[in-house]
Amino acid sequence: MAKIADGGEVMNWITVVGLEIHAQMATQTKMFCACRREAGAEANLHICPVCVGWPGALPVLQSEAVRCAIRAALCLGCEIQELSRFDRKNYFYPDLPKGYQISQFYKPYALGGGIPFIRDDQSAATLPLVRIHMEEDAGKSSHESDGTSRIDLNRCSSPLLEIVTEPMMMSSTEAASCVRSVRNLLRWVDVCDGDMEKGNLRCDVNVSVMPEGAKEYGTRTELKNLNSFVSIERSIVVESARQIELLAAGGTIRQETRLWDQDKEITESMRGKEDSPDYRYFPEPDLPAISISNAEIQTQRESLPEMPEVRELRWLEEYKFQEREIVPLMARRANGDFLESMVSEGVAPTDASNWFRGEILRYLNERSEKIESFPVSTKSMARLILATKEDLFSVGRAKSLLQEALEAESSLDHLIDQAGSQVQDEGELAGWVDQVLSENPEAVTKIQAGDEKPMGFLMGQVMRLSSGQAHPRKVQELIKDRLAN
Ligand code: ADP
Ligand code: ZN
Ligand code: MG
Repeated sequence: MAKIADGGEVMNWITVVGLEIHAQMATQTKMFCACRREAGAEANLHICPVCVGWPGALPVLQSEAVRCAIRAALCLGCEIQELSRFDRKNYFYPDLPKGYQISQFYKPYALGGGIPFIRDDQSAATLPLVRIHMEEDAGKSSHESDGTSRIDLNRCSSPLLEIVTEPMMMSSTEAASCVRSVRNLLRWVDVCDGDMEKGNLRCDVNVSVMPEGAKEYGTRTELKNLNSFVSIERSIVVESARQIELLAAGGTIRQETRLWDQDKEITESMRGKEDSPDYRYFPEPDLPAISISNAEIQTQRESLPEMPEVRELRWLEEYKFQEREIVPLMARRANGDFLESMVSEGVAPTDASNWFRGEILRYLNERSEKIESFPVSTKSMARLILATKEDLFSVGRAKSLLQEALEAESSLDHLIDQAGSQVQDEGELAGWVDQVLSENPEAVTKIQAGDEKPMGFLMGQVMRLSSGQAHPRKVQELIKDRLAN
């Protein structure tokens, strides 16, 4: 809320935001052909007559995209439509060789639902959705500094979801929190990798302002293609300030599309409503209507992983975790899965959490890696942790064994075997120690006179006698013990 003096009287302005979020679905193939959907491949490698729209080539809806779309709708609480349809959105652009995008305009596959998010005052809220529809992506143009432009059609026909929200009064940070929530949910159910830098999740933000107590929302402007949380937040702050200033000075807002310039921190007019393109939507004649059966919805519902709020509650109640330790564990579903897997190997949840947030996260953070590439299996981790519980070795020793395994890329199991097979039996150890002490009276005398130096020599003798089997710390304790008497 911003305050501005209006003819001597202070007026509170409220910002209203509506979002259009585009998420690229993480499918193997494109939406209407079997070409691979692969980011970062050599330009124009994954294309065929269908995705570049040769005349006469016919699209075939790939069922994997529909399954993905159903999962997205389920995790956002939408009503999935039994019957939906594709439409053509016609426009010209160099990266759209077909001259139209296949989208859903008249009959989207999902209606309603909402995005759970956290308000600035920490209360829970939901941003209602209007709809989600499926559509295909366009290609990519890049403009080089020497003036040439290049076109890469690999992205043509990659499957997208467009998630459209209702407008709602909210701050810039709350809007960013909504987008973060969508990204986390879509990642959680493996629908979208959520990589905003690569453009796999992008967002148009609609912004309007109104004086407090107004009955109707103000005229909105649309900020296109924001691809980071910072630009979402900053562009809303800057754009609502621009609108407030204009209105307070007696001006009016033009409904238009604006571009965010993140270096200059300004929004610039791109086109007004009057000159916005007429897409001449019409039903796609080459694709039949889509019917999504209850059975299919049920199958997808059953395949969904445990959702974050359910997992969180279970951890709080069953594992007695603290709120603060849950945050890093919930950051990615795979983190929690790794923890759960250690627990199912018999590790106590608290130990699993401590080891994960300590040793494992430190290793991953130092290398900016994800848990999927952690080189030690959950089974070996569990063996290591359980060994400390059975007093095979100390927690400190366990940590250095893990360190050794990670640094030398040697097998942790092998190191555990070695460390665990050390003889700890007091009687057996005492036998070796007493023999070594009686065979080395000079060393004993020196130590008893306060010279610690021969200690290492005696240790070495015991280790040799035991063929490396004696537990070093226990041996040391035992020698000290014997010589103290
Ligand atoms: P269009 O197709 O022209 O983009 P829509 O009716 O689909 O129009 O609305 C697009 C977006 O604009 C939606 O996300 C909606 O929430 C948002 N929106 C609509 N009215 C307002 C408003 N007064 N202030 C902010 N956002 C708005
Ligand atoms: Zn293709
Ligand atoms: Mg729009």
